[in-house]
Amino acid sequence: MHHGTKVPEHPSEGYPHPHPPPQYTPNVPPQYTSNPIPLHPSVITQQPVQVVHIQTIPAVGPQPTMVVCMNCHKNVMTRLEYEASTRTHIIALTCCLFGLIPCAILPYFIDSCQNGNHYCPGCGAYIGTYTR
Ligand SMILES: [Zn+2]
Repeated sequence: MHHGTKVPEHPSEGYPHPHPPPQYTPNVPPQYTSNPIPLHPSVITQQPVQVVHIQTIPAVGPQPTMVVCMNCHKNVMTRLEYEASTRTHIIALTCCLFGLIPCAILPYFIDSCQNGNHYCPGCGAYIGTYTR
């Protein structure tokens, strides 16, 4: 006896072929060129106000001061240079108003009437100003 085992060559339950993924054609949105561009662009300043005080100017006095130079980072004794300040001009102007012309010139020669600009003697960097 030969019992032929019937092996179905074509099973009814076939493996379903996976459907190919639908091709997504990139749908390019139409360019709307009729975008109303404001002809009067109002200036909107949204820039944050940055108050940056990175350089801390050392407190300098009327005399040469020992400071750490911000440029060469050395401990230096500042070189002091006097500069005619606003007060100098005011004093001079006041003297002129009172007819004291010789007196008007004096404040420009008196150090105490002028601002003291401190400079680094090494690199010449500006340190600070002593304002009277
Ligand atoms: Zn320096």
